[in-house]
Amino acid sequence: MVSTVAERVASVQTQIAAACARVHRPVDSVTLIAVSKTHPASLILEAVAAGLRDFGENRVEESGKIKPVNERAGVPLTWHMIGHVQSRKAREVTRHFRWIHSLDSVKLAERYARFAQADNVMLNVLLEVNVSGEATKEGLEANRWQSDPAQRADLWAAVRQIVALPGLRVRGLMTIAPIVPEPEQARPYFVALRKLRDGVANDFPVTDWQTLSMGMTDDYSIAIEEGATFVRIGRAIFGAREQVQDKAER
Ligand SMILES: *Cc1c(COP(=O)(O)O)cnc(C)c1O
Repeated sequence: MVSTVAERVASVQTQIAAACARVHRPVDSVTLIAVSKTHPASLILEAVAAGLRDFGENRVEESGKIKPVNERAGVPLTWHMIGHVQSRKAREVTRHFRWIHSLDSVKLAERYARFAQADNVMLNVLLEVNVSGEATKEGLEANRWQSDPAQRADLWAAVRQIVALPGLRVRGLMTIAPIVPEPEQARPYFVALRKLRDGVANDFPVTDWQTLSMGMTDDYSIAIEEGATFVRIGRAIFGAREQVQDKAER
């Protein structure tokens, strides 16, 4: 039997509530971001009808669907850029997205800051960090900041510069856990993100580091148990994507 978007949203929300209950967190401390990349406006509107308001896209090239979806939604939606962005595309990102989860360089941060100021908007940003050390991963290197003073110095220098920029409001950290056979095996990466967050929050109290964007279809329950405040969920809501896209993104 083919399930509807509404049924899948309900099922994910049940899982989120169960994970919250296990660790005594209020269910409203977690925001479900529906990752709508590759999917058409019609499907996104089904998710809106099911009550979702936060949507994630990973390619600037797909932002053409945002305006039509916003117009037909009838309620305000929040769009999250979750994918790697090349600096020459930063301008376009600031037009459509109010949350950027994939900020991974000072250079890009400076561009976003410039465009945000020009448009007189405030961009909510999360620093994407690579806590696993996988060579293929985007993100600021952060797999051994506790044992490697040089890595820590680089990371801290980047954070120091980014939190000082106008037009940006740093809200926390984001990571993508490695693909693992069992969801439980992703747990150490979520713990690592939370510990890093505690570290930067302690040293850079100028901003509020509350947000942790971590957890996807295969591992979001574990991420919530470890403190995720945003979970980014695609397949569990919209079904499978084209294989090609899946390969390109990790
Ligand atoms: C595609 C994507 C997701 C969602 O992945 P699913 O496995 O479909 O839930 C989450 N985060 C990022 C950065 C993505 O690119």
